[in-house]
Amino acid sequence: MLVVGNWKMNLDLAAARQLTSAIASGIGSTDNVDVGVCPPFVDLDAVYAILHGSGIRLGAQNMHEADSGAYTGEISGPMLRAVGCHYVILGHSERRQFFGETNDGVSRKARKARSHRLVPIVCVGESLPQREAGDHERVVERQIQESLADIEISDASELVVAYEPVWAIGTGKTATPEQVASMHGHIRRLLEHLFGRAIGSEIPILYGGSVKPSNAEELFAQPDVDGGLIGGAALKAEDFLAIVNAARR
Ligand code: PEP
Repeated sequence: MLVVGNWKMNLDLAAARQLTSAIASGIGSTDNVDVGVCPPFVDLDAVYAILHGSGIRLGAQNMHEADSGAYTGEISGPMLRAVGCHYVILGHSERRQFFGETNDGVSRKARKARSHRLVPIVCVGESLPQREAGDHERVVERQIQESLADIEISDASELVVAYEPVWAIGTGKTATPEQVASMHGHIRRLLEHLFGRAIGSEIPILYGGSVKPSNAEELFAQPDVDGGLIGGAALKAEDFLAIVNAARR
């Protein structure tokens, strides 16, 4: 199981240090659960220093596809590696919605992330109108096929997929366990088709969308749910640790 916190555009340096210390001191062993946190770029270096030795891995929330150059305001894969990142979230629905990210762009970034030995956490998920129209499976299928086009992995640990229905992110509305199980099964079949059964059956598929301590255990118990991508509840150490504990059970 894998639990990753996405802090989004929250927490300045002092607050990020405080939350990281609370998580690192409360985590105990990471023997049977992988844990990651994805702070804002400016906090990465300080968070890494605190995480060191805790077993918790560092991730970023986005990455540019070039290694360096005239791209004002952007951050590259080598820069993320240099501050200790293991993961990079790509194609989060907020990036797709507010910053025009496309499946093609996500696939270029994912390939580049792999070339720098970063593990991309590629996000997919349908909007409410798409679900209401019964298009959710087709939408996610296209996102998976196009966002993961031509990415090469030799082991399932080199890629993570996160299913995050847009209507469940930050809304307090969680997908039902049945909806989650059904979509994760669909994604599993697509991954097996794309990467072959041996690798596709082992790629972690996270659920994201209003996961909290009270619903984590039931969601994590669904077939093909290998953990969670946590937004709001990752900003409170107590809640995040409770969700990590739910993944351990
Ligand atoms: C997210 O943004 O990845 C997310 C899942 O947010 P929340 O948990 O707040 O719904």
